[in-house]
Amino acid sequence: MSGRLPLLVFTDLDGTLLDHETYDWSPARPALDRLAGIGAGVILASSKTAAEIAPLRDELGLSDWPAIVENGCGLLEAGAPGDDDGDATEYQRLRTILHELPTGFTGFGDMDAADIARLTGLPADAARRAGQRRFSEPGTWTGTEVGLAAFLDAARANGIHARRGGRFLTLSFGGTKADRMDEVITRYRPGMTVALGDAPNDVEMLQRADRGIIVANPASDPLPELDDEADGRITRTTRPGPEGWAEAMLALQDKLNHHEDTGHDG
Ligand SMILES: [Mg+2]
Repeated sequence: MSGRLPLLVFTDLDGTLLDHETYDWSPARPALDRLAGIGAGVILASSKTAAEIAPLRDELGLSDWPAIVENGCGLLEAGAPGDDDGDATEYQRLRTILHELPTGFTGFGDMDAADIARLTGLPADAARRAGQRRFSEPGTWTGTEVGLAAFLDAARANGIHARRGGRFLTLSFGGTKADRMDEVITRYRPGMTVALGDAPNDVEMLQRADRGIIVANPASDPLPELDDEADGRITRTTRPGPEGWAEAMLALQDKLNHHEDTGHDG
């Protein structure tokens, strides 16, 4: 491609580009096709593993772009297969420390694929890929609230960060979707950036982009109002999941085209 990349879109998956219940993305297809038509890039950014994202990225026709995996703890490079023997040193170090912490946390590494399938609602094969981790450990807390505070204190003292996103408590050595977003922006230098997400772990990404779009998710409490919503830099969709995604991205592209056609700015 010659010239400057016009637009780079960063998108969360579950509850944003994918339907929260069915994982269907087809309602977003018209908007994705239109983005491809103008040469825009789409960067998938998710708590999913490289092994989970790679086949989905293929299906979406987005394998020419890197993807942000494991909630920003790592990148899956453009064209790279997710099922390769990626370096899991960081994950192994994390698991070693977790064994020393107060009990009550059950991580994916403590579960088999059937357990992960039950917990996530993913089909068996997808659950197996969700368990192929390189950077971070999602899991559930089964102890008391008091015990959780003690666990989190001990984790922090060992350099471990904890985040709640969607259904899980996820532990890692840090790195956010926004950190990886910075890395990708530096690489591609797009004319404009847009981010879409539905949950607290997307907020930094929404704030970092030129335009942020909060996709409605009726299955969760709505995100509290963000500062940038007052001036319209961050907006909300009315429809959930891929339908909201398409609604927002088609409207944004209409608006950008209109500004180009008329020469108006802002
Ligand atoms: Mg989500």
